[in-house]
Amino acid sequence: MRLLLVEDDEMIGRALRRGLQQEGHSVDWTRDANAAQAALALAPYELVLLDLGLPGQDGLAFLAELRRGKNPIPVIISTARDALADRIRGLDLGADDYLVKPFDFDELAARIRAVLRRRAGQTSNRLEHGTLALDPSTHEVWLDARAIALSSREFAILQTLMERPAAIISRAKLEDRLYGWDEEIASNAVEVHVHNLRRKLGDQHIVTVRGMGYRLGAER
Ligand code: CA
Repeated sequence: MRLLLVEDDEMIGRALRRGLQQEGHSVDWTRDANAAQAALALAPYELVLLDLGLPGQDGLAFLAELRRGKNPIPVIISTARDALADRIRGLDLGADDYLVKPFDFDELAARIRAVLRRRAGQTSNRLEHGTLALDPSTHEVWLDARAIALSSREFAILQTLMERPAAIISRAKLEDRLYGWDEEIASNAVEVHVHNLRRKLGDQHIVTVRGMGYRLGAER
C-alpha cells in the first residue's frame, strides 16, 4: 500500500518509514500539513499516518480541513500527547484510530490492517479468487492451497488486482500504488513484476488488456 506519513520528528519519521517499508508499504514522508495537503492532491494514498504536534498548522486542524473537504482517506493519528481530550477530538474530527507515542511497531502495523479492512467492509483479511488466495496481514499467497513466495512488489500488484477482480488496472495506477516519490521506477518495472508473478502463478491468472492495463484471469 502507498501511505502518507506526516511527521516532523526526523528520528521518529525515519524509524516509521523504515518499519512501514519493511511491511511492504510504499511510504511518502512529509514534515508539515502544507506538504501533506500537496501530496494528497497528487498521489493516491491508502492511508495517512498523522502526527498531531506539527510546525505550522497542527494535525487536528489539518484533519478537520481534510474532512471538511470531504476527503474520506483513512487517518491514524500518532501523537505524543496522551491527553484524552486530544484523542477524543481527533476521533470526533474523523480519525479512524490513534496511537500514543511511543508505540510498538507491530501494533501500528496491526492497526493499519484493521483500519484498511474496516474501510474495505471486509470481515476477514483474506482475498480469494478461484484457486488464488491472499492474506494482506500475513503477506501470504496460496495457489491451490500451496503457499507461493512473492516479493513485496509482486504481492502489492496481486493484492491490487484481487481487491477489484473485475476491474482493469492501468500500469500507471499500479506504479502509483507501488512506488513513492523518492523511488526510481524503470519504465518496464510493472511488466517485470507481472512477468515474475506469471512465472510463479501460471500465465492464466493475470491478463494483459492491450493498451489499458491488467486484470485478473477468470476464476479457476
Ligand atoms: Ca511532532
